[in-house]
Parts: sequence; C-alpha cells; structure tokens
Amino acid sequence: MPATAPTLLRQDGKTIDSGILDDIRAGRLDGLGAEEILIWSIKNFHPRLALSCSFGNAEGLVLLDMMHRIEPASRVYVLDTGRLHQATYDLIDRVRERYDKAIEVVFPEAAAVQAMVRRHGMNLFYESLEKRQLCCRLRKVEPNRRYLSELDAHVTGLRREQSMTRSAVAKVEVEDEGRLLKINPLADWSQDDVASYVREHNVPLNRLHAEGFPSVGCAPCSRAVQPGDDPRSGRWWWENADTRECGLHVGEEKDGSGI
Ligand code: SF4
Repeated sequence: MPATAPTLLRQDGKTIDSGILDDIRAGRLDGLGAEEILIWSIKNFHPRLALSCSFGNAEGLVLLDMMHRIEPASRVYVLDTGRLHQATYDLIDRVRERYDKAIEVVFPEAAAVQAMVRRHGMNLFYESLEKRQLCCRLRKVEPNRRYLSELDAHVTGLRREQSMTRSAVAKVEVEDEGRLLKINPLADWSQDDVASYVREHNVPLNRLHAEGFPSVGCAPCSRAVQPGDDPRSGRWWWENADTRECGLHVGEEKDGSGI
C-alpha cells in the first residue's frame, strides 16, 4: 500500500487504529486463517461490518455459517437484482429460518431500472458488453455502493483460484480511497477446503449446484456447465473470459465505469 494511503474511515470521521493499519500495510493479516480473520473483523468493526452473500455459491454460505458461530448478530446482505433464480430466493428464506437471522435484502433504484428497461428492453445484457455492464451497474454495483456507504468493512467469499481476475486477492484490502475495508477470509482456500467445511457443518446450499451450476447468479446470465469445465464459464458465457465480472469485485472508478 502506498505511504500516502488515507487513514480515515467513513463519514463519521472515525480513524482506523494505527495498529490495524500497520497490520494491513505490512500484510500481517494475510497469515491468519479464515476464522481468525473473521474474529479480528468482528472485534474491530461489528456492527459496521457485513457479509456480502449472493446465496449463489458455497463460499458465501460457509462464511455466513462461520460468522454466525462467532457472533449470532453478525450482519449479512444480499443484492436482489430482481432477476435471481427462484432457488436463490428459496435459499434466502431457508437460511433465514435455520439461523434465525434477518437477511438484509438490498434492492436497486426502481426508477433507474425502469428507465433502462424502457430504453433498452428487458434482455439488453445479451446485446453488448456495454449493455450488460449497464444492467450490472444499476442492479448490483450501485445498490452495493449505497449499502456499503454505511459500513466500515465488508466480507466477501473471493478465492484466488476462482479466476484470473481474482488471483491477487489479499485477505484484507483497502477500498473507496481508504474509507472501506474489504475482507476476504477464504482468499487462500481451495475448492476442496470449501467442500469440506460444507460437509462438516451441513451448510445449506443453493439447490442449483446439484443441477450443474457451480456459481448461481441472475437467471438470464448463469447456466449449468459440464463436469470439469471452468466454474466461471457458466456466467456471461457469451463474453470473453476476461470481462466476466459484474463490477462488485474489480477496481471501480468513481463514476462506476470500472465494471
Ligand atoms: Fe443484469 Fe445479468 Fe448483471 Fe443480473 S447478471 S445484473 S441480469 S446483466
């Protein structure tokens, strides 16, 4: 991290403890295990900390289970794009009941989506990369940004081996010009590590995984893949592999164009 990195977090003027900042800058947190990272995160940031869970991959559910064991009041949110699979909505309610947990469901701005659909149609994402990114921006990136503006830190299920665009993910990253921490406790986990945790703790999963969906996103933009295929190949399959991100986890420009 550059020496000029800002030290302020969020609008309330709260500053990151210098010890925490030193640990992040020195990469010391990268040596911690997933549970240790979560304990550290909850101790320092709860309740201004939330897990970002899509309910469409095992990683988010593993983290939800792990965080809930550490702190039953830990927060979790999901972006409801309005285009999710029914299986995903069913899972959200199943998790809500099993953990007795209020899932924070975040919606896009209705007026923005309405204007986009009026201009470009319901299925604009198949027509060009620009239109697909516009849809992701209005239905995911901007609602996500709005939600995160109230937090100090968020937890994600990113793993380095998931794709070439995620190969350099650190366990703790500084975002939004120093106002937000992004915590990736599973950065160094393998697919087998995830599967083992799911088995051991009987973690509820999206039923579409059993139908060949390694990663379940919006219904029009995710599909089943053949055994052995790249797990990300079922997302936006009509695009080149290097553009297959929705914009939530790439370096975002201030104007949101970095999707
Ligand atoms: Fe729109 Fe598809 Fe992105 Fe969902 S994944 S927000 S439907 S483009």
